[in-house]
Amino acid sequence: MAMKYMKNVVTLALNQDRCTGCQLCLQVCPHQVFEMNQGKAVIINRDACMECGACSKNCPTSAISVKSGVG
Ligand code: SF4
Ligand code: SF4
Repeated sequence: MAMKYMKNVVTLALNQDRCTGCQLCLQVCPHQVFEMNQGKAVIINRDACMECGACSKNCPTSAISVKSGVG
């Protein structure tokens, strides 16, 4: 069973207008929260996010924001 954290409290947000489709967030996320859809990253598994901050740190266009270190 996949590890789940508290529902609907995740601070993760993705601004698709800024996304260039580099896929770095898919590579660094340890919980497969993202998927590519028509050249853009989309959040497919928000509840799996453990707010490690890796996606937001690695996104070259700052399309992702997450408050890391609170969960
Ligand atoms: S790292 Fe940022 S720019 Fe790259 S695919 Fe993810 S959201 Fe888009
Ligand atoms: S904060 Fe960590 S777990 Fe959450 S989406 Fe980003 S890389 Fe994945």
